[in-house]
Amino acid sequence: MSTVFSQIVAGEIPARVVYEDETTFAFLDANPLAPGHTLVIPKVEYERLNDVPESEAADLYATIHRLIPAVEDAVGADATTVAFNNGEEAGQEVPHVHCHIVPRFAGDGGGPIHAIAGETPTLDDADLDEIAEEIGSRA
Ligand code: 5GP
Repeated sequence: MSTVFSQIVAGEIPARVVYEDETTFAFLDANPLAPGHTLVIPKVEYERLNDVPESEAADLYATIHRLIPAVEDAVGADATTVAFNNGEEAGQEVPHVHCHIVPRFAGDGGGPIHAIAGETPTLDDADLDEIAEEIGSRA
């Protein structure tokens, strides 16, 4: 069973398509958080960001890079929040990688990306050193 986004790419479900190339696709979100809220996806159905092979990840970034100014200019936005919900626990509802480009306007009442956090942790220097070491050793 393919995702709703694969069905949009295949033309089986209608969408307001704003861009398409060989490997990527972009269309308006059906439940926009702001006018111009756009989703950018790889055409192939990968669930999480790290499932996307490097060359397609580069293509995906190139399309995001291209569309940010297009979206901002089209709706007169002052800025954009650009984000991925990467995994179900992070709020990803459609298991097909998608980048949200959400136009932002001065005084729109929205928050920064920091607003995603629930309770923030208390971490001392030793904790931070250990976490940095653990990440660095895997990078
Ligand atoms: P997620 O929560 O997975 O990061 O975001 C999924 C997004 O896809 C939501 O913002 C939702 O409004 C959008 N969406 C879900 N189904 C459809 C659809 O059939 N068409 C379009 N254009 N957007 C959809």
